[in-house]
Amino acid sequence: MTVTAHPLVSRARELADDLLSPAAERVDQEGVPATHIEAIKRSGLLGVSAPAVYGGSAAPVAVVRETAEILAGACCSTWFVQTQHHTPVLTLAGSELPVRERLLGPLARGELLSGVAYAHLRSYPRVPVRVRREAGGRRFHGTVPWYTGWGLNDVLLLAGVTEDDEALFAFVEAREQPGLRPSEPMRLAALTASRTVSLDLDGLRVPEEAVALRLPFGDWAAADHPKTLNTNPAVFGITEAALGLVEEEYAGVLRVRLGEVRRRAYALADHPVPHERAQERLAVRAEAFTLMRTATTTAVVTGGGRAMSLDSRAQRLAREGLFLLVQGQTRASRTAHLQWLAEHSR
Ligand SMILES: Cc1cc2nc3c(=O)[nH]c(=O)nc-3n(C[C@H](O)[C@H](O)[C@H](O)COP(=O)(O)OP(=O)(O)OC[C@H]3O[C@@H](n4cnc5c(N)ncnc54)[C@H](O)[C@@H]3O)c2cc1C
Repeated sequence: MTVTAHPLVSRARELADDLLSPAAERVDQEGVPATHIEAIKRSGLLGVSAPAVYGGSAAPVAVVRETAEILAGACCSTWFVQTQHHTPVLTLAGSELPVRERLLGPLARGELLSGVAYAHLRSYPRVPVRVRREAGGRRFHGTVPWYTGWGLNDVLLLAGVTEDDEALFAFVEAREQPGLRPSEPMRLAALTASRTVSLDLDGLRVPEEAVALRLPFGDWAAADHPKTLNTNPAVFGITEAALGLVEEEYAGVLRVRLGEVRRRAYALADHPVPHERAQERLAVRAEAFTLMRTATTTAVVTGGGRAMSLDSRAQRLAREGLFLLVQGQTRASRTAHLQWLAEHSR
């Protein structure tokens, strides 16, 4: 079966065309509505990577990318809320702890939506969230700087560092409770609609049965590092959506570049050794970002003064593209991106 013929790709396209894209400028200003989340839950897309025995589709990676491109290009805020869900699904699929049997089915079938709070682990040796052991469970202390989907998702996969220097991930109900307090939703240059908050953790108690993953911090970091090297398919989704606003005379050459950069990015992502060719992966990622900014700038220029209106598609895509530049940034990707920009500014 070709990627485009896969049922989840057709479902993503329908959702994008019928619901997400027509509402995207309104959603950008008013927030992702619960009805969008219900539609995503019903679509089967939350189980795209989940094992079939738990009700997921275990779809090929090319389908995962294609659906991400489609959703991000239609409504980046909705894409971003739902994309958090895939890390919890994959974590549970790889876990042998009891929480797998409790949650993997409901997450794979889209009955529950999960968020994540783990990117702060990447600022190690700074430890924004600490985990202490106590009888029958753990207590979380500290601050999660970024948590997306507050009020939209049902559970959250929360990570911290233990006193034994382990990375520990556990599931928590995504609601205010003793020891867990959200900030006000953040007002951001883009993706305010994603209901992103910070979380204050003041001794949040989590039972041992909710722990999904626990391993030495160095082992977690070594496995996590390659995930931050590749280009996010959302970058290509935004690029393509922006080119859709540009006259073919100017879009054509950028579309050719898009095909070429996308091909190189996905070939590197498919390379069997994830930590090899790191600098090349980061360079392609930087190139894809620059192409995306060129495409969104071209869309703004095409739109003229009207492109500054908050109901204009071009400015929304340009702001969403700004967000993607820093999403998932690490020290290594930040340095590589800055070096690439300096080298290509001449
Ligand atoms: C709108 C939004 C929503 C998000 N939602 C979530 C979510 O739901 N869940 C989640 O887990 N994460 C979320 N994130 C976090 C995101 O994935 C990245 O981790 C984050 O954008 C990178 O963050 P930072 O600069 O805040 O982190 P930092 O911890 O400040 O830095 C990230 C990396 O860059 C390096 N760095 C930063 N500044 C400097 C500097 N001046 N000099 C040298 N090195 C530097 C740090 O060393 C570190 O490795 C969200 C981010 C945004 C913007």
